[in-house]
Amino acid sequence: MNRYSKIINKIKREIVLLKARPCKWGRCTFCDYIEDNDRDDKRIDEVNFEVLKNVSGEFGVLEVIDSASVFELTENTLREIKKVVEEKNIKRLFFESHWIYRNRLDEIRSFFKVPITFKIGVETFDNDFREGVLKKGANFKDYREVQKYFDSPCVMVGIKGQTKEMIDKDMEIIKNFSHATVNIFMNNSTEIKRDEELVKWFVEKYRYLEDDPHVDILFEITDFGVG
Ligand code: SF4
Repeated sequence: MNRYSKIINKIKREIVLLKARPCKWGRCTFCDYIEDNDRDDKRIDEVNFEVLKNVSGEFGVLEVIDSASVFELTENTLREIKKVVEEKNIKRLFFESHWIYRNRLDEIRSFFKVPITFKIGVETFDNDFREGVLKKGANFKDYREVQKYFDSPCVMVGIKGQTKEMIDKDMEIIKNFSHATVNIFMNNSTEIKRDEELVKWFVEKYRYLEDDPHVDILFEITDFGVG
């Protein structure tokens, strides 16, 4: 598994995939990456401290992802990230958090004292599909509720059961955010399946997003170079 990479298009940044405690939500029907979660803080920190040694600060921007929320990192790992931020002159961080932590994001902001882009995996703004099928546990009804807390929604496309209309709507909605990530769903060990026809349609219609500086588009889950 590769845990360090650089994103050299769009917002240039280093990215680390750290180990975390079990995702507090842990019920999304399409998710099997929580298999990277661990209950042993010592083991988590050992991995994370090694990964963080790679960060050079060359872009002044660091993204930290962890197969859970930033709140599931250990205290020692958070302190180590902060040390890296100070030593390597990092001026902006990207973190990810589940909706359930929306009222705690300021804790992270005041701890790190640099601007943070908070990402949230919403997968889709279609409430029925998000909650009924994907079981995301993010029970907002309107994107403006998300906007109150988060900077950057991550949406998923190409899942069986999703429709072109849902995706078109999601692509419209993400324009209201300063940043967004679009993931094309890849089959994994869960029951949720990719819809190849829908993916083909999407790639043809939305390939121009590759040139949109505000949108990261991941044709494969490992396109950020980690995973
Ligand atoms: S919130 Fe994220 S890590 Fe947790 S189960 Fe859902 S997709 Fe997986």
